[in-house]
Amino acid sequence: MTPEAPSVGAASPSQDSASRTASYLDEAERYSARNYLPLPVVLDRGEGAWVWDVEGNRYLDMLSAYSALNQGHRHPEIMAAAQTQMERLTLTSRAFHNDQMGPFLRELCEATGYDAALPMNTGAEAVETAVKMVRKWGYETRGIPAGQAEIVVCEDNFHGRTTTIVGFSSDEQYREGFGPFTPGFKLIPYGDLDALKAALGPNTAGFLVEPVQGEAGVVVPPEGYLAEAAALCRDNGTAFVADEIQTGLGRTGRLFCCEWEDVHPDVLVVGKALGGGVYPVSAVIADAEFMDVFRPGDHGSTFGGNPLGAAVGRASLRVILEEDLSRRSDELGQWFADELRAIRSPHVEEVRGKGLMIGVVIRESSGTARPFCEALQQRGILAKETHQQVVRFAPPLTVDRAALEDALVDIRVVLGG
Ligand SMILES: *Cc1c(COP(=O)(O)O)cnc(C)c1O
Repeated sequence: MTPEAPSVGAASPSQDSASRTASYLDEAERYSARNYLPLPVVLDRGEGAWVWDVEGNRYLDMLSAYSALNQGHRHPEIMAAAQTQMERLTLTSRAFHNDQMGPFLRELCEATGYDAALPMNTGAEAVETAVKMVRKWGYETRGIPAGQAEIVVCEDNFHGRTTTIVGFSSDEQYREGFGPFTPGFKLIPYGDLDALKAALGPNTAGFLVEPVQGEAGVVVPPEGYLAEAAALCRDNGTAFVADEIQTGLGRTGRLFCCEWEDVHPDVLVVGKALGGGVYPVSAVIADAEFMDVFRPGDHGSTFGGNPLGAAVGRASLRVILEEDLSRRSDELGQWFADELRAIRSPHVEEVRGKGLMIGVVIRESSGTARPFCEALQQRGILAKETHQQVVRFAPPLTVDRAALEDALVDIRVVLGG
């Protein structure tokens, strides 16, 4: 290493800790694309529901990497599975079989009650896969004329960042400057059954929906919406596709949010916590009627179903089930949301959510949610604003009640209750 190019990671002991944070922030500012606006905290360690910054301060992680850390940071069982697998075999590509993928997909199907699963890596890839699946299913099974398949989606959706997916976003910022976009999508208001009914036609192959809209600000649809929407789709011969990448795997107090209304989606899209906070693992899960549209060469992914990801996915799912994290999320979430609602704050318009997926909506007259998140950071709580007005609280589902009780003391101060 030359003296002209000091590595911040090798900061000298004489450098005080606050300046270590500053130099990390400078480095990121200088060398990274500006596509995020992170809170000014630099983390270097995590365990369970806790993370530490480079200055040694401890924080309660109330974001859980957008619910990719439902099992907490470095869950011992997931770490052990990853380490064991890393010492055996990590990547084969799908040109060959490996001994982890089959068991992983079987366990996923057994836990969810479907025939088959198709492994991918990121959430957006799984959504893209579901789009391809229902389009082809529409042509082959529903007899939709070539090139005419339509997929209905909801306003304020978030399904990822690929060009096709942002093309059907209603958020101008997600789209602006990135066109031209893939045709074949129709936007309707979220939670509106009449709009869905009107939008469904002979060429509607699928309805793609989040059971709770996370990135839109934890928007919970009216009760009965999912069940009614699924019934409308069934009557129309349209595939009901649930994007449970964020709401799934225990986050909302059920293994999948659709279970709240006894809905068995035709196509279930999962990701985030399927990778246990270690590795990107996503999947599209469906019955044979849908899965069978894919034939050799139709679709693929170099890393999808790789043995390391599959081993991590198996452990991630096992931890959710064995530790009954869905029930924990349900019980802690109801109690925590009630405590938040009990805070008499002039700034809070509404507290909403399901399980440990909770949004606190800040009144516009009190400004945006950002300064509240910054104030929480000062008090050792990492939360992130979503869509200007909402502070999202979504800690790892392994968090203990005492940690949340302590957090409430600080949240009460910050919200001025
Ligand atoms: C995060 C998310 C995605 C995209 O997942 P990536 O892994 O970031 O591509 C898609 N849908 C929902 C509902 C999400 O929350």
